[in-house]
Amino acid sequence: MEFYRGTILNPIDGFNFELIEDGLLVIKKGKILFCGSFNQALLKYPQTKDIKKSIELIIPGLIDLHTHLPQYPSIGKGKGELLPWLNNFIFPQEIKFNNPSFAREVAKIFFKKLIKNGTTTAVLYSNSNLQSTDIVFQEAKQSGIRAFIGLSLMDINTPAELQYSVTANINNMLKLIDKWHLFDFGRLNFIVTPRFAGSCSIKLMKEAAKVAKDHDLYIQTHLSENQQEITHIQSMHDFEHTYTEFLEMVNLLTEKTLLAHGIHLQPKELKIIKDSGSTIIHCPTSNRYLQSGIMPLYKYLKQSLKVGLGTDIAGGFNCSMLNESREAVENSKYYRIFCDKKSKIIEKKNALWISTLGNAKIMNLDSAIGSLSEGKEADFIIFELTSNFFSNYDNLDDILSELLYGDNLKIRDVFIRGKKVNKD
Ligand SMILES: [Zn+2]
Repeated sequence: MEFYRGTILNPIDGFNFELIEDGLLVIKKGKILFCGSFNQALLKYPQTKDIKKSIELIIPGLIDLHTHLPQYPSIGKGKGELLPWLNNFIFPQEIKFNNPSFAREVAKIFFKKLIKNGTTTAVLYSNSNLQSTDIVFQEAKQSGIRAFIGLSLMDINTPAELQYSVTANINNMLKLIDKWHLFDFGRLNFIVTPRFAGSCSIKLMKEAAKVAKDHDLYIQTHLSENQQEITHIQSMHDFEHTYTEFLEMVNLLTEKTLLAHGIHLQPKELKIIKDSGSTIIHCPTSNRYLQSGIMPLYKYLKQSLKVGLGTDIAGGFNCSMLNESREAVENSKYYRIFCDKKSKIIEKKNALWISTLGNAKIMNLDSAIGSLSEGKEADFIIFELTSNFFSNYDNLDDILSELLYGDNLKIRDVFIRGKKVNKD
C-alpha cells in the first residue's frame, strides 16, 4: 500500500468539489483504497500515524479531450485563420510527420509534455499515415498515459502526401483497431477520426461511421469552427443544409461523438446535437489564436448540452488543461462583453470540474477515473507550494485561484494507475 497525505481537492457530482484540508489517499495495486480525512484514516490504517502533515495538494489527473499530436512542433507558428493556416503551415507539418523517426521523436516529447502538465488521459489526432500512427501508439504505450488515438482520415482536398483512398483508410483503421484498441486493459483506445468534412468524401465519412458502429468506438471530428470553413464545406459538398445536418446525414452524430469547437451553431443544430447525445469540445485558447470566434459555453451548459474541454494543439498553444480551464473562464467573459451582456461568467470550479470528472463522464470513464473515489484507478497529481504565500488550504476559491491563475503551485508528481509517470 502507498500513502499520500496532503490537502485533497476532489470533484463530486453537480459541478462541485469537496475539499479535504488534511487528507490521506491510500493506493493499492493501482487503485484507490481510501480517500478521506487523515484523522478518519488513522482508525483504519494505524501505520500512517508517523506520516507528517504536508502542505501538498492532491487532485485527480487532468483529461484533455481534443488535441493534435503531429502539430506539436507548430505551436505559435503560422498566421491567419483556420483554412489558410491549415494549408500553409499545418499540412506541411503533418507531411513531415510521415517520416517515422520524426514521428517518434515528436510523440516521445509530446507525451512527456502532457504528463508534465498533469494530463493523464488524452484524446488526440495523429496524422493520416498508418506507420506514423502506429508509432504514436507505441510511444503512448511507453509513456504510461491513457489515450484515445485517431488516424486522421483524409481522401479529398488535401495534399497528395496525406490523402488515402476510402479502402486504404478503412483498412488502415482496421489494422490499428486490431492491434491497439483496448490495449493494456483499456489504457489505449482507437478513436474513429474523419478529420473534418473539408478533407473527407461523403463515402469515407459514411464508411468511417460504419466502422465506429461495428466496433462500438468513439468518433472525433470538427464542427463549425470558422465561418469561412462552414461556407467552404457547404459549397464543396454542394450541400444546402447546415454543417450539423451534414454530419447527421453521414451518420457521424452518435452518443460517442466528440465535435471540436461548435462555435457558430444555429438553434436547430444545437437541438440535433443534443438529441444525438454527441458532445461539443470547447477549445477556447485555439478559438482565439485562430480568430475562429467565441463559443457560448454558458449558453450550451444551460441548454444541457454535453460540453468537454480540450487544448487543440497547435491552434491552442499550451498543453496544460489548467490553462485551458482558465481560458474557458476568460472566454466566457469575452462572450459577455462582445456577444451577450446577459450571459454568465463560468466559475473556476465549473471549468476545472469539466477538465476532470466532466471529461471522464463524456468518455464513459467516470467509474474508473475523473475523481479520487474509492475503487477508482489511481490517476492523480501532487502539487507542491513554491512559496510561503499561503499555507492553509481552507478555502476552495483560493486553491482554484492558485491552480488556474497563480504560480505558487508546481506539479511535482503525476500518477497513472498508482504508478509515477513523470520522469526526467
Ligand atoms: Zn482540432
